[in-house]
Amino acid sequence: MNIGVLALQGDFEEHRICLRRLGVDAREVRLPSELNELNGLIIPGGESTTIGKLATDYCLVEPILDFAKSGVVWGTCGGLVLMAKDVGMSQPTLGLIDMTVERNAFGRQVDSFEENLEIENLHGGPFRGVFIRAPRVIRVGPGVQILCKLEDGSIVAVRQGRFLATSFHPELTNDSRLHEYFLEMISKTDQPSGTPQH
Ligand code: GLN
Repeated sequence: MNIGVLALQGDFEEHRICLRRLGVDAREVRLPSELNELNGLIIPGGESTTIGKLATDYCLVEPILDFAKSGVVWGTCGGLVLMAKDVGMSQPTLGLIDMTVERNAFGRQVDSFEENLEIENLHGGPFRGVFIRAPRVIRVGPGVQILCKLEDGSIVAVRQGRFLATSFHPELTNDSRLHEYFLEMISKTDQPSGTPQH
C-alpha cells in the first residue's frame, strides 16, 4: 500500500510517524510525480491558505484532483478546509467534499482545546480530539456522512465516499485508530467490487 502525505507546510511529519507505527512508510509529496502509484493521500493540518497557495505554485492542484478520481484522501484540520467545496471566502480549495466549512470556528490559538469524541464506526472507546484553531463543518450536502459532532452540535468529522475529513489532529495523539480507519478505507477501495472483504 503506497501512502503519501502532502508535505508543503504543517505537521506532515507527525502523520508519517503515526503511519510508521502501523508499519507504513509514507512518502512526502511535494511534486506531481510523487503522486504516482499512491493509493492514499493525507493533507495535514497547517495553514490552509499557505498550503493552498503552495499547492497552486507547485502545480499540484490538478494532479491531486486527478489522483482523487480513484484514490483515497484524508484532510485533517487545515487539510479539512482544503477538502471543502465552500469555505465562505475566496481561497483555493480542492472542493472534494460537498460541505461548507467555517475556519477558526472555536477561536484563536489560545482557545485550543481537547475533547473526548465519539466517532461513528470507531470502536474501543472515545477518541481524544486535539483542536488547534480548528474549523468546523456548518453544512453538508447529500451523500456526506457525519462521523462526529461535539456536544454543541459542531460537526468535526465527515466522510464522502473515498474522502475523509477531520477538524482535529489525530496525528498529535498516540491513538492510531483513525489512521487505521484510513488504511481500511484504502484496502476496501482497492478491492474490485464484489470481492469479499476481510
Ligand atoms: N486555522 C487553520 C486554517 O484554517 C487550521 C489550523 C490547523 O490546521 N491546526 O487554515
